[in-house]
Amino acid sequence: MKPDCDIAIIGAGPAGSVIAKFLHDAGMAVTVLEAETFPRFVIGESLLPNCMNVLERAGLLGAVTDAGFQFKNGAVFECGPQYMSIDFRQNFEPSACWGTTFQVKRARFDQILAGETARAGVDIRFGHRVTSAQLADGDCRLGFTDANGNPGELRARFVVDASGYGRVLPRMLGLARPGKSIERRALFTHMRDHITDPGYDREKILITVHPTRHEIWYWLIPFSDGTASIGAIYPDNDPAFDGMSDQDIFNQLINDTRLGSLLANAEPIRDLNSIAGYSAQSEKLFGDGYVLLGNSAGFLDPVFSSGVTIAMHSAELAAKALIARHNGNAVDWNMDFAEPLSKGVDTFRAYVDAWYDGRLQTIIFNQPDDDSQLKRMVVSILAGYAWNMENPLVAKTERYLEMLHDLCAPSS
Ligand code: FAD
Repeated sequence: MKPDCDIAIIGAGPAGSVIAKFLHDAGMAVTVLEAETFPRFVIGESLLPNCMNVLERAGLLGAVTDAGFQFKNGAVFECGPQYMSIDFRQNFEPSACWGTTFQVKRARFDQILAGETARAGVDIRFGHRVTSAQLADGDCRLGFTDANGNPGELRARFVVDASGYGRVLPRMLGLARPGKSIERRALFTHMRDHITDPGYDREKILITVHPTRHEIWYWLIPFSDGTASIGAIYPDNDPAFDGMSDQDIFNQLINDTRLGSLLANAEPIRDLNSIAGYSAQSEKLFGDGYVLLGNSAGFLDPVFSSGVTIAMHSAELAAKALIARHNGNAVDWNMDFAEPLSKGVDTFRAYVDAWYDGRLQTIIFNQPDDDSQLKRMVVSILAGYAWNMENPLVAKTERYLEMLHDLCAPSS
């Protein structure tokens, strides 16, 4: 029987919309099944400049730049009296690459991406939750339940799983594994921030490190409408917080830092959310008739805001492979997708590990106040350019992290 489409995509988050647009533009018939109706809340609000390049190549950038999102040009790191402001434009990449981006409420951002993709002609079916999968390259079937609770089936030559935290295929195929790092918990909310401090830079994400417990950190992501996303990350089941409610933990953590005074007049506009177990990986990234993108393939840690950038990068790599196949070329999913994707993910992983073991915090807070190539290489990674093998910090991550740490450590 003839399939209903060439490619079925599970999920219309950034990974799903971006790959759908690339494939559609290359002449393929694409159907996206999305469980929710948009707009819907999802965490992941601070973008990195590198994802602007992908949006541009996908033809989705105009709609994003027209939306009036909060301009972002860098990151500020604070820990007690230590302070470092990093400008993403001072990076190591060729000048054509983006050095700025946006901070976005994902409900609206994802709706814009999906809306543009649908306007281009992609069949996106909201309220369609995938419930089963039979996968074989050339003959795949996805079972779903539609918004009225009616079951249905979609037949496709190939399936792309971009289901994010849903992790649909890894769960169905028994590929889902917990992440390698220790379990951490995130508490977060949105507030009307009422920040009046003239030193506060709304064009940067503010990452605050707890003054005495350096594995605890916070994000403050301002939006363009006077509201902000505020979150705290701490070790899950930490005995220091035994018996305390999430709200009490959050208030105590905020008041342990300068955020307490910065946000003294802030009013919450969302209930406090709490999530743990978000760090995850999949045993395989592709198989007979399917490929996994974005968070469905795995998620490291929120500290460098790399999630959406990795999701979009994986979408573009998989799109290239599927378009090559569509044009009659052979594709090696390991060499053309999994290995190149892993390079950048491994770079971010090394940075995340170095953040929690303290080396990266030492590097960040003791950066020389100059415009050296070495500093630009560090900034490039923070701006999301984790796949550029010209950058020694990508090609030889561990060696350079050690070298930088030795250079920056106060005792040296
Ligand atoms: P998603 O954005 O999760 O989209 C997946 C879509 O699939 C959803 O719309 C969902 O409804 C749909 N779906 C799920 N199950 C099904 C099903 N059965 N059938 C059909 N559809 C389905 N990243 C950043 O870049 N910047 C940040 O500042 C940042 N902060 C973070 C903070 C925290 C605490 C955490 C945990 C993560 C953060 N992230 C951040 C990561 C970010 O949330 C994700 O990496 C990103 O959303 C992944 O995009 P995606 O397209 O893979 O999946």
